[in-house]
Amino acid sequence: MYVKKYSDDRKGVFVTKPSLPPLEEYVEYLKRIWEKSTLTNMGPLHEEFREKLSEFLDVDICVPSCNGHMALELALQALNLKGEIITTPYTFASTTHAIVRNGCTPVFCDVRESDCTMDPEKIESLITDKTVAILPVHVYGMPCNVEEIEKIAKKHGLKVIYDAAHAFGVKIGEKNISSYGDVSMFSFHATKSFNTIEGGCAVIKDYNVAVRFYQLINFGIMGEENVAFVGANAKMNEFEAAMGLCNLVHFEENRLKRKAVYEIYERELAGIDGIRMLKPYRRDVERNYSYCPVFYDEEVLGVSRDTVYKKMAEHNIFTRKYFYPLTSEFDCYKSLGYNGETPVARRLSRQVLTMPFYADLEKETVVEICNLLKEMF
Ligand SMILES: *Cc1c(COP(=O)(O)O)cnc(C)c1O
Repeated sequence: MYVKKYSDDRKGVFVTKPSLPPLEEYVEYLKRIWEKSTLTNMGPLHEEFREKLSEFLDVDICVPSCNGHMALELALQALNLKGEIITTPYTFASTTHAIVRNGCTPVFCDVRESDCTMDPEKIESLITDKTVAILPVHVYGMPCNVEEIEKIAKKHGLKVIYDAAHAFGVKIGEKNISSYGDVSMFSFHATKSFNTIEGGCAVIKDYNVAVRFYQLINFGIMGEENVAFVGANAKMNEFEAAMGLCNLVHFEENRLKRKAVYEIYERELAGIDGIRMLKPYRRDVERNYSYCPVFYDEEVLGVSRDTVYKKMAEHNIFTRKYFYPLTSEFDCYKSLGYNGETPVARRLSRQVLTMPFYADLEKETVVEICNLLKEMF
């Protein structure tokens, strides 16, 4: 059985470290939880968080959930989708699982080299009479080409559901990324750029779909004596909402800290042939700097990504092959029969390492990591 044990004596530089608010700020909220004795089920902090979140995301309807995955899975259920959903294999397990657990079939579309998001030019050839939706991912917080995707969806009458798990706080021009698509799912997992310990939310355009979603995350209960849908339990509790209220205040400050760290990587690695970092598809994208993916081209460097990974680990610098393998290559999806149909995604997954990256990462450490890389090449 695969069981990961927690070990307390790990040393080194890790790929991520959760942002925590000052403890006193969280304790103030804990006092309020103790006063009210409400721990979950859309309590006062949940409602306060929901309002602040809607304001931050600049949307009418936004529903917090126990995590991002359940928000995505239940949003698909609320849309009542049955058929094929065009999606990307260059993502976390959750995206593909949400489709399959709804009884739908994932159809994998290739991604763009420049930013790893779904390639709009490759969508239309995958559309059949069974296609019901497109489910792209704003991977690493890089926005998909939302204009092109919307055009295609409109033309073919398809729903668009964005996996925006990485994209909290991203803007395209003046517009918040949450304003695109029929649904956007955000993840507030501890390792994401904004966290509520575990948590997430769904932004849903259609009021009726939002109401159904709201019921689905609470067992499909409509009233004391009426259960209308086969729902689940995906509510956000008061402790998570409290963490969200604390962290939301510090989001911008942390974003700017991550931006500064990111720019050191960019500066130090610039000009090394065979090393590449991503670029958003528009110049006016306001990034959230949620990850620091770096792509190592073995043909140019003469050293494979896996060698870089091992060498770094020998120096107690822990990177992550994120995303590798593609979800279409998972054992559980072998039966779908994909084999090399998304060559760009496949190549990128063999080149990528997300580097140690978080708001409080010391500048000297980043320079050391980059110097180590330079020595290798
Ligand atoms: C983290 C993540 C999810 C799932 O979010 P959880 O809050 O961990 O359930 C979904 N999709 C992507 C791309 C993610 O990175």
